[in-house]
Amino acid sequence: MLLSPVAYVRPSSLPEALQALQAHDNARVLAGGQTLINVMKTRFASPEVVVDLAGVAGLDAVAVGADGTLTIGSMVTYDTIDRSEAVRGVRPVLSDVATVIADQQVRNRGTIGGNICASDPTNHFPPLLVALGATMTIAGSAGERTVSADEFFAGVYMTAVDANEILTSIEIPAPATSQGDAFESLTIGKEGTGIVTVAVSLRCNGTIEQARVVVGCVSATPVRATSLEDALEGAAPTSENIDKAAQGLGGSLDPPSDVHASAEYRSHIAEVIARRAVTAAVGKAMR
Ligand SMILES: Cc1cc2nc3c(=O)[nH]c(=O)nc-3n(C[C@H](O)[C@H](O)[C@H](O)COP(=O)(O)OP(=O)(O)OC[C@H]3O[C@@H](n4cnc5c(N)ncnc54)[C@H](O)[C@@H]3O)c2cc1C
Repeated sequence: MLLSPVAYVRPSSLPEALQALQAHDNARVLAGGQTLINVMKTRFASPEVVVDLAGVAGLDAVAVGADGTLTIGSMVTYDTIDRSEAVRGVRPVLSDVATVIADQQVRNRGTIGGNICASDPTNHFPPLLVALGATMTIAGSAGERTVSADEFFAGVYMTAVDANEILTSIEIPAPATSQGDAFESLTIGKEGTGIVTVAVSLRCNGTIEQARVVVGCVSATPVRATSLEDALEGAAPTSENIDKAAQGLGGSLDPPSDVHASAEYRSHIAEVIARRAVTAAVGKAMR
C-alpha cells in the first residue's frame, strides 16, 4: 500500500526538532522508519508531518562517562552497537543482541531509540534494557527528564515519551564487580521475530547476590520475573538451585497465543530459556 501524502521535516538540532513537533498537532518522529513507515502504509498511523531525526546533531553518539556509564544516543543503529568498541567494552550483551536482530539491512537502519519507542513486545531491546537497569533521557519543551527502564514501557506502541517529546539517549550503568549479563531467545527461524526472550543481569560471587530477570514477548511490556529473582538471591549458583528458582515461572505468566506459539508453549519455553539465560549470566559473572 502507498503512503498517504505527508510533510517531511529534517531539523539539524534538538531545539528545532522539538519546535517542529510542537508546531503541528499530528506530527511523528521518524528514526529508522522500519516500524513507522509500515504503520503509516497500513494507515494505523496517519501523521501529517514526520520529523526526521537523522540530521539532529549528537543523537547518534556513543560515549562512556568517567564512572563507566554508557550513553547511547537514540539514533544509534543496531549495526553501530554491534561494532562499537565502547559498547562491547562496557556491556557486551548489547552488541551480542544487536548482531542477531533480523538482517544487515534492518541493522543498518534500525535505531535503539526507535526499537524501544515502538515498544513492540517482540523487540529485543525492551527486556534487555530493563534487565540492565537503564535510564532513558527524554527532551521536551520544559527541558529534559529521565525515566527508568522499569517505568518506560506503558503498553504496545506506548511509552513514557509524550507526543511532543523526543527520546534523546539511553544510559546504561557500568557493570558491578562479578556482574554477568545474558540474553536468550526462541525466535521464528534464525534472527527472526521473538517467540520468547529472556534478559538477565546478576551479580555472583560465590552466591548470587542480586538478579534482574526480564521476560519479553509474553505481555504488552517486559515482565520482571520477581519470584525467580527472589529465589536466586542468596543461593549458590548451582544448576539445581537455578532449576528450582525457575520452577513456576511459566505458570506466573499470562502470554498470548498466536500463529507462532500457543500460550502454553510460551509459558513452558519461558522457563526453559530463563534457566539457560541465568546459567549463562552466572558463567559470565564468575569468569
Ligand atoms: C524485517 C524486519 C524484521 C525485524 N525484526 C526485529 C527483531 O527481530 N527484533 C527487534 O527488536 N526488532 C525487529 N525489527 C524492528 C526494527 O528493529 C525497527 O527498526 C524498530 O522497531 C523501530 O526502529 P526504527 O529506528 O526503525 O524506528 P521508527 O520506525 O522510525 O519509529 C518507531 C516509533 O518510535 C517513534 N520514535 C522513534 N525514535 C524516537 C525518538 N528518538 N523519540 C521519540 N519517538 C521516537 C516513532 O515516532 C515511531 O512511532 C524488525 C524490522 C523489520 C523491518
